[in-house]
Amino acid sequence: MKYVAVFCGSGNGASDIYRAEAGRLGAEIARRGMTLVYGGANVGLMGAVADAVLEGGGRVVGVLPRFLQDREIAHRGLSELILVDSMHERKALMAERADGFVTMPGGAGTLEEFFEIFTWAQLGLHRKPCGILNANGYYDPLVAMFDHMAQEQFLQERYRGLAIVESDPAKLLDRCLAYEPPPVKTYLTEQCT
Ligand code: AMP
Repeated sequence: MKYVAVFCGSGNGASDIYRAEAGRLGAEIARRGMTLVYGGANVGLMGAVADAVLEGGGRVVGVLPRFLQDREIAHRGLSELILVDSMHERKALMAERADGFVTMPGGAGTLEEFFEIFTWAQLGLHRKPCGILNANGYYDPLVAMFDHMAQEQFLQERYRGLAIVESDPAKLLDRCLAYEPPPVKTYLTEQCT
């Protein structure tokens, strides 16, 4: 896993823990010689993770829609900043560049990004690891929701393992590196891969 995409909040959250954990994740990405691919902003946890990778001597690629350039305040110190025309283009480019994904705490935008790559994994459109960094227990309700979805049979048990949940950045990256995708029916071929 050379390129890791990180989805996270454009805000900082209610506790200092979130920024601190974004810093730990960024430092770990740099230490492992991985390249960060992210949304290109210098605000909130997005800025914190990018700064930490750069401080650790790592490489950071930002992908930012032009219309968000002012609102999200483009990070000016990145190794590479790619400006695109839409949110769809941003997500497609990030997904294409990344070998794996890590979702940190964030708001509706972050959840939307996570669920898109999770559902693409379910459909067999990619076989890349989808990690969730459960900093400060933020995603405990989401894990409970996954339980509920499986119990109510709206999420197949075999797809639960598509989301790798850990609260420690190093452990999460280790699990992403060791990830073996489960067999899924790809709707492109109608076969199990
Ligand atoms: P948030 O988690 O809401 O703070 O947003 C985190 C990132 O997700 C920001 O870069 C937003 O631009 C992005 N974002 C917000 N809404 C969407 C959306 N509908 N689809 C994809 N990304 C989004």
